[in-house]
Amino acid sequence: MASKVYFTDFRTYGKESLPHKLQRLIRAAGIGDIEMNKQFVAIKIHFGEPGNLSYLRPQYARAVAEVVKEQGGLPFLTDCNTLYRGKRKNALDHLEAAAENGFNPATTGCQILIADGLKGTDEVLIDLPDGEYVKQAKVGRALMDADILISLNHFKGHEATGFGGALKNIGMGGGSRAGKMEQHNSGKPQVNQKKCVGCHGCERACGQDAVAFGPDGKARILEDKCVGCGRCLGACNFDAVYNANGHANEILDYKIAEYAAAICRGRPHFHISLIVDVSPQCDCHAENDAPILPNIGMLASFDPVALDEACADLCNAQQPLPGTLLWDAMARPDFTDHRDHFTNTAPVTDWHFTQIHAEKLGLGSREYELIRLK
Ligand code: SF4
Ligand code: SF4
Repeated sequence: MASKVYFTDFRTYGKESLPHKLQRLIRAAGIGDIEMNKQFVAIKIHFGEPGNLSYLRPQYARAVAEVVKEQGGLPFLTDCNTLYRGKRKNALDHLEAAAENGFNPATTGCQILIADGLKGTDEVLIDLPDGEYVKQAKVGRALMDADILISLNHFKGHEATGFGGALKNIGMGGGSRAGKMEQHNSGKPQVNQKKCVGCHGCERACGQDAVAFGPDGKARILEDKCVGCGRCLGACNFDAVYNANGHANEILDYKIAEYAAAICRGRPHFHISLIVDVSPQCDCHAENDAPILPNIGMLASFDPVALDEACADLCNAQQPLPGTLLWDAMARPDFTDHRDHFTNTAPVTDWHFTQIHAEKLGLGSREYELIRLK
């Protein structure tokens, strides 16, 4: 059965602010049907790696928190620590990064909790009897302690999963450090020495010091240090970094779907995505390349699978923006058109795997009805 997905664009007609428009959207989508009185409500968000400017602004988080409080709920913003080194690898750094990017109780109207604690080890183990790749998900405790889950997601490209949508925000983002390791452990990349030009882009992207250079100036991956996060794949503009396990990204997609199912099941959940500043790579990067697509709008649904499907379809209906990574990729002589902006940007990805698997797990439907609000 088709799920309802509510959509509105970024037009304001000079009378309604975007945060107020977001509130109108989520009310229309039925957030008011969730009984929130005195319930803890986790708003799962990505605070953005410092240096990246495409993460969602705190004003959107505040807008959602205000609606939760109106309904009697007790909201908090949350995310888990990262697997790789960077500025969000433990709770202290993570809180500082959130503050640097403008998230604090004064700006968002609620507190911030790093879900998997100081060192990324405060986790809840969730049995997943129907998991094909994960039998016990390892999830940040605060995220699971919440009575209600709201995903507030920046919809953008991703170098390993095609796009970063609701399922990835919850599944990968909700994993503790061990959980992230489990999702990423399907393969470590290698460098095609013939293609490598020695530009050091992969080295700059790697948070693990896992890239070394030989006397010939070519990169190679140090397997003992590499955690398989895939950031170097997106950082290489010469397609020299590849995953020797041809199914690694596919398995990652399946695991993300299974983690998302483990995190959502058994409690009310609601999902919001904003297609804005559609950078080709994740907000985990300490920089954001130019958006590959125009700003499209805001979407909300009770169904994260339908929501991601609708976001992808809306993106694929747009023309790529000139002077971007996608535009450059399309101009290459060896370009193969996958008829999908995200796979064309990162040809090693196919986001459909996540969607198909999440639907199989009963997390939602890939069929949707798009309800447009002015
Ligand atoms: S980014 Fe690519 S081309 Fe540049 S050093 Fe790394 S593997 Fe080589
Ligand atoms: S996958 Fe690439 S970026 Fe990630 S740890 Fe390994 S070498 Fe570094």
